[in-house]
Amino acid sequence: MAARILDGNKIREQIMSELAGEIRELKAAGITPGLAAVLVGQNPASQIYVRNKVKTCQSLGLYSEKIEMPSSATAGDLLKQVDQLNRRDDVDGILIQLPLPPQVDAAAALEAVDPAKDVDGLHPVNMGYLMSGRPCLAPCTPAGVVEILRRSQIVLAGARALVIGRSNLVGKPLAMLLLREHATVTIAHSKTRELPALARQADILVGAMGKPAFVTAEFIKPGATVIDVGINRLSTAEEIRRLYHDPSEPLRRLEAKGAVLVGDVQPEDVREKAGAFTPVPGGVGPLTIAMLMVNTVRAAARRRAVRTQNGLACEK
Ligand code: NAP
Repeated sequence: MAARILDGNKIREQIMSELAGEIRELKAAGITPGLAAVLVGQNPASQIYVRNKVKTCQSLGLYSEKIEMPSSATAGDLLKQVDQLNRRDDVDGILIQLPLPPQVDAAAALEAVDPAKDVDGLHPVNMGYLMSGRPCLAPCTPAGVVEILRRSQIVLAGARALVIGRSNLVGKPLAMLLLREHATVTIAHSKTRELPALARQADILVGAMGKPAFVTAEFIKPGATVIDVGINRLSTAEEIRRLYHDPSEPLRRLEAKGAVLVGDVQPEDVREKAGAFTPVPGGVGPLTIAMLMVNTVRAAARRRAVRTQNGLACEK
């Protein structure tokens, strides 16, 4: 039987329409949730990410503000900016777009954000809440993965889950969120031995290591749910021929678009062996900004001690 495609765009739309209901409630109570995005320097990818975040805020009727700082900004300049945003009552969420220029200590900047406004969920206080099972602002991409699984009726309680990758941004928080859903969780990383055999035991397999098409058929238990967090750009025909069994279609895409996106999971193998999987693009990616919006609305409701009726499933 063909594997089920877990459509991230569809799930994103569900979340956004639920969120619109919550925002209406907040607005009726005189509250417009607000997000401030701080961009330091001219990184073109970061500029696109911030633009998309601000645009999504606008489409939902949230207040948003983009704060651009020069690439020469010092750690002190950024801390001063964050301090001002922490003090502003109209700002519920603060996001510092990463990466930061080398002279700015990213950890210190993230720790300066008021945990109540930490919509990226990267402050140690929020990480601690996540670890101890308390309500928190969880990092957006891992929270999005859990939303995909829940809303696709994938059974998590008792399932064996393997997360490949242990970053603070994705792997570690995702493992904690899956544990909170009662999965039996293993985390793998670059020093893990016999990874394919370990992966074959997983009912839920997550690739989050930034290695194009690394998870191949030998990793996948037949019928498993495979979540692909990776986003890798292939820009040469040679890479495509090396990674695809049948490279003809991706080679056509390369010619038309100049690059092909591939996840950490081999796309032909996953279709063949998995029970359900997230495609790249169109799987986990669309959820990240949606969960940032969820966190912004959550932060606004919590800071102002408002309880909305349409609490999303992600509120736990
Ligand atoms: P990261 O910080 O580079 O972490 C990669 C992790 O993968 C590390 O823990 C590393 O292990 C592990 N790893 C690397 N090679 C491995 C191997 N051969 N076998 C097993 N584990 C290995 O990356 P990240 O920020 O977590 O991002 C992971 C991927 O997700 C990237 O492709 C990124 O572009 C993508 N991403 C997507 C979204 C989205 O919105 N969809 C959001 C964020 C990230 P060690 O710790 O031992 O080095």
